[in-house]
Amino acid sequence: MPTETFEFQVEARQLLQMMIHSIYSNKDVFLRELISNASDALDKLRLEALRDDSLGADTADLHIALEADPQARTLTVRDNGIGMSRDEVVALIGTIANSGTAAFLRELKESGEAAGAAPEQGLIGQFGVGFYSSFMVADEVTLLTRRAGESTGTRWTSGGEGTYTVESVDDAPQGTAITLRLKPEDAEDRLHDYTSPWKLREIVKRYSDFITWPIRMAEPSGGGTEPETGSDADAAKEPETLNSMKALWARSRDEVTDAEYHELYKHISHDWTDPLETVRLHAEGTFEYQALLFIPAHAQQDLFLQGYKRGVQLYVKRVFIMDDCEALMPSYLRFVKGVVDAQDLSLNVSREILQQDRQIQLMHRRLAKKVLSTVKDMMSAHPERYATFWREFGRVLKEGLLGDGENRDAILGVSSFATTHDKDQPTTLAQYVERMKEGQEHIYYLTGESRQAIENSPHMEAFQARGIEVLLLTDPVDEVWVDSAPQFDGRDFRSVAKGEVDLGTEEEKEQAGSEREKQQEEYAGLLAWMAGQLAEHVKEVRLSSRLTVSPACVVSDTHDVTPALENLYRAMGQEIPHPKRILELNPAHPLVTALNRGHTADPAAPELAESAELLHSLALLAEGGELPDPARFVKLMATRLERTV
Ligand code: ADP
Repeated sequence: MPTETFEFQVEARQLLQMMIHSIYSNKDVFLRELISNASDALDKLRLEALRDDSLGADTADLHIALEADPQARTLTVRDNGIGMSRDEVVALIGTIANSGTAAFLRELKESGEAAGAAPEQGLIGQFGVGFYSSFMVADEVTLLTRRAGESTGTRWTSGGEGTYTVESVDDAPQGTAITLRLKPEDAEDRLHDYTSPWKLREIVKRYSDFITWPIRMAEPSGGGTEPETGSDADAAKEPETLNSMKALWARSRDEVTDAEYHELYKHISHDWTDPLETVRLHAEGTFEYQALLFIPAHAQQDLFLQGYKRGVQLYVKRVFIMDDCEALMPSYLRFVKGVVDAQDLSLNVSREILQQDRQIQLMHRRLAKKVLSTVKDMMSAHPERYATFWREFGRVLKEGLLGDGENRDAILGVSSFATTHDKDQPTTLAQYVERMKEGQEHIYYLTGESRQAIENSPHMEAFQARGIEVLLLTDPVDEVWVDSAPQFDGRDFRSVAKGEVDLGTEEEKEQAGSEREKQQEEYAGLLAWMAGQLAEHVKEVRLSSRLTVSPACVVSDTHDVTPALENLYRAMGQEIPHPKRILELNPAHPLVTALNRGHTADPAAPELAESAELLHSLALLAEGGELPDPARFVKLMATRLERTV
């Protein structure tokens, strides 16, 4: 096949531009990225060879080699791993398949366009860009690759500006060699001499020491340029292995620095920021395993998209087996990254077998508990870290309140909620309980679309008037878990928009009780008549003890689903019965007292029926609900307004 020229996909081009113009201050990390890819390619080859005898791959002496040439100013990173076919080269290298990176670019573009500003260093720093980072240090990159089992290789070359060429090559070795034509050194721009053995040794030690494949370096053909290398230049004909290859999870805590853990995290997660927490677990006994897990400092863009991959890798006796091992982590902890290394599994273990394995299920439970207890510790030891955690992952974690009954208390214990107590700081449930007023038995909450919508809801009036704290729940998942009747610390969660409210001290209640009896008598006729008028929409009309300002509100019966939950089920394609709700009137409101007078004077007056209907519509609008017949409401309202102008 002749040499073909291709254009980079638009997103790829944007990313390359950022690389060429060096948005990262630390350029050394290109080597980490290339070694990380090479290590993955070796893992893949070992797995494929294990599963497919006919692959015809060469699996002897799998390793990564660094070859520097100071005269030509090139650096080659070579692996004898799985390699890529010609089609794969075009698909994988010419485009950005990584959906997180694509989403990041979109976001960057939007924010950049809005502000007309240069991209923010911190934001960019959070995203690994793999192979493309070569263009931070090179003005031309050549990739020569041959897929294991295939006979023809492919050469890919680009200067990073818009296009790349691809040609077929007959004598390529198995695996991938990436050759960088290095940009000139520039101390100010932190471009070092990446042909210097001393520099390469340092970078590998810092970023890639834990890589489980040997990373070898032969002395450069022209001799080292650094004085340090001069002394051993003659002796070093044998390639030197630069990394210790020690699996971090198998080493004891005091042997490993935080920086080393963080590098492993970056290798696994493709994230460029340090994790919030590192979680270690060594299980001994009949089923032995080691886990090294990380809680990231920010959520990946696609965390809520379908098909999001969980971030835990499975190893068996130090051998990488699979990525995204869903059997090891519950879905609500899908943001956790890391490694689990089990001693007693077969290297051939499949996802299906893992799902059913009892030992794996036990491991799954233990890991979930361990992560939750780590979050709990973080809450007291590092409140700011916990605040970040909750902002990034709270929404996901709360999904566990539905699926994981066993850990429900633990999850509630580490959850935070927006509250009427504090405009900016969310509260934990323990803090809420501590602040509860004397005589208050329940934990009150209201769900809604936004903080503002909830705060302005008529349901809040009595609570606001009495200074009773209400949790403001605005995530869609909140509708669902609060509906499953959870308890915290022996206390029920109560919606302020459901059932009767019964606030105040015993004395106050008693007093209110006798007053209410009087009002009941006074309003009995109106309530019964309105219930008849509105029978199609409500199951009861009653006097309210939750309103102080508004004339009316609609509430759900204690055990009925709320309209929001109903909508949620519908959106998931689940039909559920539509329960009628209850209309509550505020007997202290002039509109209601006038209605009562009107009803006593002439229960058959035609305007009275319209007023009842309008009042119900107003109550629905006040809670942000939908009207049964908006056009009719507008007509009635217009007629009324006509009379007053
Ligand atoms: P990422 O590693 O984040 O997926 P990269 O741009 O670094 O993104 O690489 C894109 C893809 O190209 C990789 O997922 C892998 O499939 C392939 N690739 C990169 N380097 C190698 C390599 N050394 N050997 C085989 N495949 C590779």
